[in-house]
Amino acid sequence: MTDAPAPPPLTLAQAWEERDTDPARARQSARAHLNTPAHAQASVLLGYLDWRAGQLPQATEDISAAIGTLRLGEPSVWLGRGLNILAALQSTVNRADRAVELYEEQVSLARHINDAELTATALHDLAVELRRSDPQRARAHITEALGTFRGLNYTFGVAIAHANLAEFDLDEGDLPSAYRHVQQALGYPHLDQHPHLEASLLTTLLLVHPPGTSDAERRRAQRRLRQLHDDSRNPELRATVALALAAHTDNQTASTLLSDALRDLTPLGDHVLLPDLHEQLSGLRDQLGDPAAALHHLRETLAYTRRTHAAERRQNFQTFEILARIQSLQDQAREERQRNTELQAHLQELRALNARIRELGRTDHLTRLANREHLFTEGQHLAQTATDHTPLSAALIDIDHFKVVNDTWGHQTGDLVLQRVARMILDVARPGDIAARYGGEEFVLLRPAPAGDLSASCHDLQQLIRLHPWSSVAPGMHVTLSIGVAQTTTPDFDRLLGDADRRLYRVKRDGRNSILDHD
Ligand code: GH3
Ligand code: MG
Ligand code: MG
Repeated sequence: MTDAPAPPPLTLAQAWEERDTDPARARQSARAHLNTPAHAQASVLLGYLDWRAGQLPQATEDISAAIGTLRLGEPSVWLGRGLNILAALQSTVNRADRAVELYEEQVSLARHINDAELTATALHDLAVELRRSDPQRARAHITEALGTFRGLNYTFGVAIAHANLAEFDLDEGDLPSAYRHVQQALGYPHLDQHPHLEASLLTTLLLVHPPGTSDAERRRAQRRLRQLHDDSRNPELRATVALALAAHTDNQTASTLLSDALRDLTPLGDHVLLPDLHEQLSGLRDQLGDPAAALHHLRETLAYTRRTHAAERRQNFQTFEILARIQSLQDQAREERQRNTELQAHLQELRALNARIRELGRTDHLTRLANREHLFTEGQHLAQTATDHTPLSAALIDIDHFKVVNDTWGHQTGDLVLQRVARMILDVARPGDIAARYGGEEFVLLRPAPAGDLSASCHDLQQLIRLHPWSSVAPGMHVTLSIGVAQTTTPDFDRLLGDADRRLYRVKRDGRNSILDHD
């Protein structure tokens, strides 16, 4: 007798689609990709699966490593997913500030790669994170997400956004509006496939009952909940519904519903609903004249709370420790690179500066290239290694008559042009180069190589610009670049940029759309 052969691994894209419906197969497929060039993507998926399975420290480790790798490559949907999961993990360990930062990074990445669904998902999750701390922004984001989901005809997203908007309204005590959102969410055509969502919506519906909710409608909701309860074999769903129904029925029926739920849920371990069940039962038993049982359930509630707090603290601590360890390794690596004794003397100052740079982020929001601060930190560091044999070269790239683009087609179109040019600069950049936004419509490409080498890439860039279908951005649009290239064999980074700038100025003076090399 032979074992049935294991099914062949799915592609990572398929495995991602199956992540919730068949997590075991998704995990097996992700593992099969760990030793391939797609290992970072596979780690994102594993991180997701670990997270869903409650393995928070493992998930944090997988995702942090994957994001580190993915950040080095092209912005991608996988990086977006990784950021999303890490944000959720940070949120779990009460680092709302970090979670918000990561969601924001996901939003700008998703916008940059023009992935509408990823953008809306990021905005939605960011909104849920900001629900209590910044309700106004939260509402703006979730409203935008809702609009996008609608536009994409992503009906599940629409339903979830309405369900959350109902919660937002509950926070603000706006029951009529909460009620309307619940109604909208209940209109989701495939609600029957999401009994948890339906149960939670009906529960909210019973909770809000604004004036105008007819008794008939409430009875219908209760009947439907009862049906969900009786149809389901999922103890978690049955317990959720039992808790909702218990509030709207007589003590004896409620007590039976909750006892049954408790009996089915207890074998699953420390489920989050257990304390609610015990607590409700304790109250009911008390009212039914059984103080001994009431006391028993109260004791169980307390015991559960004590157990889970200890476990949660342990897990959160481990997750937190891994995050801290990664941070400190990164700090160490950065410091080791700054061996230069002069810089050592200014280490204190650099630390403050680094903190500021980290705060500002290393990337320019619009173009996703390195920002100016990052260019200078990395540029000064690279210049330390410049010698006669290993020069460092810089190209200063300026869009010609860019003001005309803004004046003719508006600032938004201008932004689009900046993004495209940035994209093309990245297309000619090589591993080890630094591509940065230097200022408004000026960019720098830095390469630890002779200037002739960099000039060749700049000619490629001019070619890309020439061939680009600019008229599809706006009819009649033409874009050209002026470029000054220089090299240094000494650590003077500022002079390198000064030299490149002088050459750029000469190109501008002599009619633009050209490159001036260092010889
Ligand atoms: P030249 O060929 O001499 O470089 O002319 P120019 O018009 O490109 O240069 P100038 O320095 O006169 O104008 C640059 C313009 O770039 C002015 C500013 O409004 C615009 N700009 C700067 N930052 C941004 C941005 O983030 N988005 C947009 N759309 N425009 C920007
Ligand atoms: Mg300029
Ligand atoms: Mg210009």
